[in-house]
Amino acid sequence: MSELPRRNAHGQFVERPVWLRPGWAWVREIWGPGGPRHRTCTKEGCSGYAMRGSDRCVRHDSDYHMRKNADLIAGLRAPTPNEAARLYRTQASNIWRCNPWLKIVTIWFAPRLEERFVLDCRHLAGLNFDTIAPVVMNNLKWAWLRSRLNHDDPPAWQRALKNARAKQRKIGPPPRGYAYEQPSAAPPADFRIRQVLAKAPPGSPARRNPAVDRETRARLRRESTVVPAPPTVDIDAIVAENWPALRAIAAGDQRVLDKIERHRGEIALALIKQREGDFEPWLAALAKLKP
Ligand SMILES: [Zn+2]
Repeated sequence: MSELPRRNAHGQFVERPVWLRPGWAWVREIWGPGGPRHRTCTKEGCSGYAMRGSDRCVRHDSDYHMRKNADLIAGLRAPTPNEAARLYRTQASNIWRCNPWLKIVTIWFAPRLEERFVLDCRHLAGLNFDTIAPVVMNNLKWAWLRSRLNHDDPPAWQRALKNARAKQRKIGPPPRGYAYEQPSAAPPADFRIRQVLAKAPPGSPARRNPAVDRETRARLRRESTVVPAPPTVDIDAIVAENWPALRAIAAGDQRVLDKIERHRGEIALALIKQREGDFEPWLAALAKLKP
């Protein structure tokens, strides 16, 4: 790799050096998969390219992010629009922690969408906007964007409404003279306020990824933590032995069969424990298998 390209007596290259070849093909040949300089991120399960001078990719190198943040805090660089918006949202939530009735917004809907949002909240869920704090309202709008506009996920929306009501109960009644103010029909001038004009385009991350809230994320994490079995256990034999029972639990549901396949190690262990009289692991495994 480090050999210098050969030159003739006039100093011209005998063969074209790699960096003179046009296009990105040679970059991929060297740094891409299978190339001599190819290095992947050392974070488990990540196949991203490791950054120069680091063994992690741009997403998983925490030093890199700390450096970038330190630069931002020290004023060595201006925040990117995304960072400015995130900072604004953090500041808003800090202010709301002191006064939840302060009229701030971090998200704005186009009038047509605002109408649909109001319909969902006021008429279908029976919310009285005059008694709802701006912080609750604002969070509800973000939830509506995820679970009603970009995805049609009624359970997630119901969870959001339930959380909003719980939060509102905690905050209590509005201060004297508080009245709901309808958002302006014109888009806000502050670029840090997210403007939602329409549903996210198909293929965008907002549409591709499922709508996640705190509860769904916890559930996914619970399901994806696979407990490894010790090597002395013959997982296949135990699963085969109990297959009629497992198949009965699945009752023909492919999602459950997939989960059995994914957690077979854990299931085998739970079955052994169950035989020894400890039913806890088996009950935990059964809870995981629920479709
Ligand atoms: Zn990575």
